Amino acid sequence: MCGIFGITDNKDAARLAYIGLFTLQHRGQESAGMVSDDGTALRHYNAMGLVNEVFTGEVLEGLKGRGVIGHIRYSTTGSSHIKNAQPLVLDSCLGQVAVAHNGNLTNADRLKESLQKRGAIFQSTSDSEVILHLAARYRGRTLEDTLARNLPKLAGSYSFLFMAPGKVIGARDPHGYRPLVLGKLGKSYILASETCAIDVAGGKTIREIEPGEMVVISGGKATFRRFAPAKRLTRCIFEQVYFARPDAVVAGRTVQSARYEIGALLARELKHIKADLVSGVPDSGTVYALGYSEESWIPYQSIFMRNHYTGRSFIQPDQQLREFTAHLKLAPVKDLIKGKSIVLVDDSLVRGTTSREIVKSLRSAGARKIVMAIASPPIISPCYFGIDTPNREELIANRLGVDKIRKFIGADELHYLSLESLVKACGSGRDENFCASCFTGRYNR
Ligand code: SF4
Repeated sequence: MCGIFGITDNKDAARLAYIGLFTLQHRGQESAGMVSDDGTALRHYNAMGLVNEVFTGEVLEGLKGRGVIGHIRYSTTGSSHIKNAQPLVLDSCLGQVAVAHNGNLTNADRLKESLQKRGAIFQSTSDSEVILHLAARYRGRTLEDTLARNLPKLAGSYSFLFMAPGKVIGARDPHGYRPLVLGKLGKSYILASETCAIDVAGGKTIREIEPGEMVVISGGKATFRRFAPAKRLTRCIFEQVYFARPDAVVAGRTVQSARYEIGALLARELKHIKADLVSGVPDSGTVYALGYSEESWIPYQSIFMRNHYTGRSFIQPDQQLREFTAHLKLAPVKDLIKGKSIVLVDDSLVRGTTSREIVKSLRSAGARKIVMAIASPPIISPCYFGIDTPNREELIANRLGVDKIRKFIGADELHYLSLESLVKACGSGRDENFCASCFTGRYNR
């Protein structure tokens, strides 16, 4: 749940990185940072807040140079604090090196302990710093040799951007959990978490960085090398269900069109259900509901007024604030709801507290029957690969069966999409492999 963006060989590097990070803002809202390379030294600026709050015109002016890497953060490992904001920059025997990381390193504690025993002093509590200390200890001839030697020691998920004077390197873990795409804008190369950031910055996507692959951009050229054999591809399927922007292209199709098909497959699985209207929980449930409506021939209605100024409730870290924003966020349009039987589609059901509030508000607006249709399977297990799902006990589907969850949220019926249909829609009919551990409880080793 972080976003990364890097650009090389461009006189407007900082401004284009601003545009890229702004486009990726949905991936994290706690902090933002950039490191620029003026050819001899790296300059950096990190702060808590949104991209447009952190980077004023003056700050961007100070980030001089033709190359920039940037990061927006939502904390998964390490607390929400400025010292964990990225990119991190280390002055070491390697010279100045910066890193921006999307993912979660599952062996970071063990590596950190052993590095500390050998004298490493960590600046942050973030897992991402481990790779810089490893690199400082086990050196190769070049930064890319050093990284190729050390990246295989990491377990878990990572898409990394590294920067040293004159060089930007992107690397993706051997399973490909988190996304990383390469694009081009004139003579500049762009690396980004999602294709939409390349589009909005005016570039064209070339391809995904492959699992276990590294791209080294230096002297206007991109060279590719493998630092580990690709393992079974386990792209995070939750990116398509919830996190990625609808206009991003994942596995060969836009997220929007995958979500539309997921909605249609959900309707096919629930073809016995009759209702007056189908609607989605805004904003992310809307496209699923449109797909559902087309397949089922039940008319779509937009029955909520969404207040766009409250933020995304699922990724606010504090429980009290999460419930408060759920109340503020959605207001029912009463005359469309009164006396109606409604299929309400949402992308996922995590704790159940938001769904309960929404069902309650539909009841108070006079809904006759509420069928909750979830466009993904029950989430029964936490994520260890960089998505901030709650711990196991907070996941309602880990504790309760479907009927008890239905009672908890107050709906008349509750249905989930099968994993088979989810994979079918996200895979675009191709032989795609996904991580679905939070739905299955089975993890890669
Ligand atoms: S466990 Fe779930 S959220 Fe985590 S990487 Fe796998 S599919 Fe994505």
